Amino acid sequence: MPVNDIDAPQRVSVDTLVPRIPGVIFQFHRSHNGHMRFPYLEGGGMALKYVDRDVLARNAGQLVEQLTGNDHPKVMSAIEHSARCMLPLTTRFRLPIPTGKPRWIAVSAQPESAQDGVQWNGIMMDISDQVSEEQRLRKLCDTDHLTELPNRRKLMVHLTNVASLSTRHGTPLSIMMIDIDHFKRLNDRWGHLHGDEVLKQLAAQAQTLLRCEDMIARLGGEEFMVVLPLTPLQQCHKLADRLRQAISVRDFGMGPGQVTLSIGVAEYRCGEPLTSLIERADQALYSAKDVGRDCVCFLR
Ligand code: GH3
Ligand code: MG
Ligand code: MG
Repeated sequence: MPVNDIDAPQRVSVDTLVPRIPGVIFQFHRSHNGHMRFPYLEGGGMALKYVDRDVLARNAGQLVEQLTGNDHPKVMSAIEHSARCMLPLTTRFRLPIPTGKPRWIAVSAQPESAQDGVQWNGIMMDISDQVSEEQRLRKLCDTDHLTELPNRRKLMVHLTNVASLSTRHGTPLSIMMIDIDHFKRLNDRWGHLHGDEVLKQLAAQAQTLLRCEDMIARLGGEEFMVVLPLTPLQQCHKLADRLRQAISVRDFGMGPGQVTLSIGVAEYRCGEPLTSLIERADQALYSAKDVGRDCVCFLR
């Protein structure tokens, strides 16, 4: 009887298949004294082009040490946790590439006890495209589309982090609450598109006055907040007044003096809820409106 080629199982040797897959399969070994190596490391894709497999078979320490930023401690603690709890190792890191941008690599591996330590069997995949897409979507979620400033969501996450640092280290932290004066009137007189242009230019100008560790965000409408780590109230007040002054003399295309700001400033009190810090800055902003606008106020 003739053999039916369609139904017959295809016999493909692992040696033929593995170099063709878009990833890497590996065995990774860590001995009790911390020595790391890859007894097995094979696969396809571009990542393997830039590593010396013979070296890694003897010693993987160098590879782990050249990881940049936070990746080195992150990978080491993921390995440690997986070995201690005998749970799957899942992490990601940037693999430095001599000729270009680092590639993002995802690792997934199962640990097992070995004679003199722990051995993992697993896979690594290049996920750089996926990470770029995640970053694009995160930016979209965190950004105000008109001014391209961080939005309220991003600012609140940032403020929570810097407030916790301020509490832990006892360092000062201040905020500014900014509101454009009579913006409705400006829109009515010059048109909504011109109003949009004012919002964009104001955002750009404010950024030039701030340090890189400060963050300005658009909270919504014509309201902005600035977070200033390591800044006491007096310094924040000075900076707010410099911004107020710069805007009050700027020509936004309608002649100078047409756009003014009211600003409320407040300093974080160690450990207080963020709502009360924001409330204080808001109250100070109301005071600035009450006393005639185009000024900076704080609550005593
Ligand atoms: P005050 O000095 O008391 O703050 O007065 P105001 O007119 O600035 O405040 P009000 O809250 O009455 O009006 C805010 C205006 O901001 C109304 C709204 O049309 C305008 N606005 C909000 N978002 C945008 C925007 O994205 N673009 C433009 N052009 N205008 C906006
Ligand atoms: Mg307002
Ligand atoms: Mg306003």
